[in-house]
Amino acid sequence: VSIESLSFKYPGSKECVLDNLDMEIAKGEVLAILGESGSGKSTILRILAGLEEPECGIIRADGQTIVSDRVFTEPEKRGMGMVFQDYALFPHMTVEQNIIFGMGKIARKEKKSRLDELIHMVRMKGYEKRYPHELSGGQQQRVALARAMAPRPKLMLLDEPFSSLDANLQSSIRADVKDILSNSGITSVFVTHDKQDALSIADRVIVVEKGRIVRNGRPRDILAV
Ligand code: ATP
Ligand code: MG
Repeated sequence: VSIESLSFKYPGSKECVLDNLDMEIAKGEVLAILGESGSGKSTILRILAGLEEPECGIIRADGQTIVSDRVFTEPEKRGMGMVFQDYALFPHMTVEQNIIFGMGKIARKEKKSRLDELIHMVRMKGYEKRYPHELSGGQQQRVALARAMAPRPKLMLLDEPFSSLDANLQSSIRADVKDILSNSGITSVFVTHDKQDALSIADRVIVVEKGRIVRNGRPRDILAV
């Protein structure tokens, strides 16, 4: 994925949230975006996902232009999976139903084997028939991750997926997500406030300040104190 000269303002606001941003994400890479509250981290993900349209800039994914002054690929055609902090599971659907919903249109025969694969990946075997309110926060996050990965996205976008969890759960789900992302080889971008998240999960870190990238490099170089 490459982003070139991306600028963005929210409608009705004068302030530029992203200012001439350039970034590249290599295939299979896990990239963390760090930065203070209000720096524009979520906005970057929303633009990648197609939930916002930038004023100007070019985004390419897999060699294809998905955003430019003449092109805008609809979110559902971008092959991206999202796990946002408030992207809750459907409360009236079981674990199994939530994950199957995520698969979209897929042959019935394939559904069962894909479901088993995803349940195994997020270590939720035995919980298939439970409803979200019968799961812990970390288990819900894992199901949300399985649902997002169900359609085999080319890019995963995670926005502070651990922030609502307590410290113990955070460290265990962090380890889970690290395994899941690295084993699947899926290119991922995740936003976090937490340096520990970035250190333990990411291959590379960028730090955003007022809509600009101020640091870019290996986690241990960027986050060394
Ligand atoms: P946080 O760490 O608090 O989640 P963030 O880095 O994700 O912050 P963004 O959500 O990308 O920040 O917001 C960047 C800027 O855009 C902020 O100044 C915010 O107030 C503004 N903003 C966000 N959403 C909107 C909106 N829908 N309309 C207008 N301004 C917005
Ligand atoms: Mg945010």
